[in-house]
Amino acid sequence: MTVYHAAHCWLDGRVVRDVQIEINGGRFTRISPNEKGEVDIRLPGLTLPGMANAHSHAFHRALRGRTHADRGTFWTWREEMYRVAAALDPESYLRLARATYAEMALAGITAVGEFHYLHHGPDGTPYHDPNAMGHALIEAAREAGIRITLLDTLYLQSGVDGRPLEGVQRRFGDGDPQRWASRVAGLGAAPHARIGAAIHSVRAVPAHHLGELADRGPLHIHLSEQPAENEQCRAVHGCSPTELLDRHGVLGPQLTAVHATHLTDRDVKLLGGSGTGICMCPTTERDLADGIGRARELADAGSPLSLGSDSHAVIDPFEEARALEMNERLASRQRGRLTVAELIRAAANHASIGWDDAGEIAVGKRADLVAVALDTVRTAGAEPTGALLAATAADVTDVIVDGRHVVADRRHTAIDVPRALAEAIS
Ligand SMILES: [Zn+2]
Repeated sequence: MTVYHAAHCWLDGRVVRDVQIEINGGRFTRISPNEKGEVDIRLPGLTLPGMANAHSHAFHRALRGRTHADRGTFWTWREEMYRVAAALDPESYLRLARATYAEMALAGITAVGEFHYLHHGPDGTPYHDPNAMGHALIEAAREAGIRITLLDTLYLQSGVDGRPLEGVQRRFGDGDPQRWASRVAGLGAAPHARIGAAIHSVRAVPAHHLGELADRGPLHIHLSEQPAENEQCRAVHGCSPTELLDRHGVLGPQLTAVHATHLTDRDVKLLGGSGTGICMCPTTERDLADGIGRARELADAGSPLSLGSDSHAVIDPFEEARALEMNERLASRQRGRLTVAELIRAAANHASIGWDDAGEIAVGKRADLVAVALDTVRTAGAEPTGALLAATAADVTDVIVDGRHVVADRRHTAIDVPRALAEAIS
């Protein structure tokens, strides 16, 4: 058993002073506000629930600082991304993902949803262990000290019109949903790992197969990130991608739609009315010039929000949360569109990746904590409640995952993260 003292703690949607937090067996067993007695470890600053990174492609981390300065489009960026995808094998992917997940831990992320489609060898031939790449990701998360939900992705074609996979895309495909399902059945869960599913997009899976994954949860899908996807979907199916998912019974609380940037009013109603989750990835969406999604309207319609660092142009849940609100301000010309409590709920939405028992500092929940310094050049003088809108990942001092102290005094306890990143990417 370990007892922590949090100088300021985010409890029940507000900041409370002097909170004692008892952890036993990886769970919170006692939470006592206004207590100053003997404790094992003191967390100065503001203590928040552990953050969930609901949308990650670990290998995109290798593109950091290499693609952002150029002109071009989402589609030319995708060519660069495919070049990285073509070069990885299970061993090099383990190194890259381990370093990337350790960077996430340093930023206050305690669980990642890995949207995984880099399955097979370079020409599409399965590895000896057909889940070698998925197992590398699960091992990477274990070594980095965070939980993972492997959202193993069904990817069957290269366009809405049914064009076959080509080039590096052959690494992504299993041929049909049955072969995908039998491979995924070979993925073992672990105490830190859960297996979920993903449909890459309405581009990559024929419409008549969409419903086959509908009852799998957590289920994720890229949705309407680019207007081109909407146009292609309309040309082939005569409806929006959201309407296509509705037609095939895929919408619902088990589903998280990633991006959901270019939606019609009807799409917003369908997504919200069905309780479909929405994962926005503001730092990636701005890097790729995708556009601004309709976070406030989707939340009002009934969609729980979550956040992802997606392409890892930035790994900083504070920046993602802040960008969600700031994008709303730019688009609406109104301030305070999402409250701090709503932003923390989105940043700590572990349920979106299947960890329903995490994301809150409350008795019985998984013991994830993130301590944020309130005495840095960015945060000094800030009110603790406002610190979320001032802090960055660099202000995280301590991270506890399932009761284990993974980041202490701004350092990862097991990995030299900058060095591991440099070695994995060079
Ligand atoms: Zn993505």
